[in-house]
Amino acid sequence: MTKNQQTDLLMDIPQHLFCDNEPKEFVRLRWVVIAVISLLICLDNWALFYRLKPLSILALFLVSNLFLNLSSKKIFNIPFFIDAIFIIDTLFVTLILYFVGKADSDFYLIFYFLIILLVSLNQDVRSVVVMGAVVSLIYGWLLFSLGVLKTENSVHLFLRVLLIFLITLFYSYILNRANTTRQTIQKYRQLAIHDELTHLPNRRYLNEYLKFELKRSLRYKRPISFIMIDIDDFKNINDKYGHDAGDIILKEVAALLDKNKRENDLVARYGGEEFLWVAPEADKKEANSITNRMLEKIRGNVFRVNSSYLKITISIGASTFQPKKHTLAIIPEVVSKADEALYQAKYNGKNTCIYLEC
Ligand code: GH3
Ligand code: MG
Ligand code: MG
Repeated sequence: MTKNQQTDLLMDIPQHLFCDNEPKEFVRLRWVVIAVISLLICLDNWALFYRLKPLSILALFLVSNLFLNLSSKKIFNIPFFIDAIFIIDTLFVTLILYFVGKADSDFYLIFYFLIILLVSLNQDVRSVVVMGAVVSLIYGWLLFSLGVLKTENSVHLFLRVLLIFLITLFYSYILNRANTTRQTIQKYRQLAIHDELTHLPNRRYLNEYLKFELKRSLRYKRPISFIMIDIDDFKNINDKYGHDAGDIILKEVAALLDKNKRENDLVARYGGEEFLWVAPEADKKEANSITNRMLEKIRGNVFRVNSSYLKITISIGASTFQPKKHTLAIIPEVVSKADEALYQAKYNGKNTCIYLEC
């Protein structure tokens, strides 16, 4: 399924659950935040900013971030990568504030934005506390060592650092709770729409998916094929090798079907050992090509169950919804046609596929 479809289907779940790469979003967001803050510093006093050191630091920051944004997703998944970026940001912001003579001003509040962004990245409370402490220390140490704050200002600095630290704690706690709730909702939603054994979408998911796909099919006048797949003589397998062996085969067949479907197709567990493959934009010819391909694949596959190797076959029935001549009301009929075709395939001796026009 495409990302858009996923979002549409699962729109009652916060969208960021489907974010491909949250760290990358984080890097982008903080880039914007820091660029805006830099602009604000400039607006405060252009002359202060228009000097070589702050300008070169800012240029370095912008260029390195451009590379980060263009780089592959992989580097964002390196452990502690984001934490390292966070520490570099702290150094960067402190230095830029120092060079424009604003280190002892309210511009240090930018740290809060960075902290909030970091915390919103699902970090656990412990690592955020560590990061908050690191930021506070870097900031305090730099200000002192750069001589911005004199010894008489130390109480002021201590309070400021303490404030950053407490805000870090506060946000990490709130966001951590929100994340836990979000994950729980996601987990139960996943359980509700997937089959526990095969991990394929179940009928509830299938219905939601169909609502979406049928709308698209009608809008673009493109067909959708319904392919009903049933394992042959599955009861015998259960009887001969045991129910657990049957489960193993079910899982493997499900995985094989799912692996061979196109990105926009959906394979759902329809019943016990029955699967429904929905193929948008597939007409009779394409439906037949899918069914023949899958018959071959299952026939050719050797299933390993405990210490035995066995081969199985499937029967398939298919039919197509054609928006040029059908209305939505016909959908149950198309599914029954596929079912009827499956019944015929069984009647014809199994291990075969039948297509029936609707
Ligand atoms: P046919 O070729 O006509 O389809 O015969 P069949 O034996 O495959 O079909 P039948 O409907 O007689 O039996 C289906 C069997 O599938 C019966 C049921 O116990 C088994 N089954 C259903 N769900 C599961 C499951 O989750 N795990 C296992 N192991 N077996 C299941
Ligand atoms: Mg069967
Ligand atoms: Mg059956």
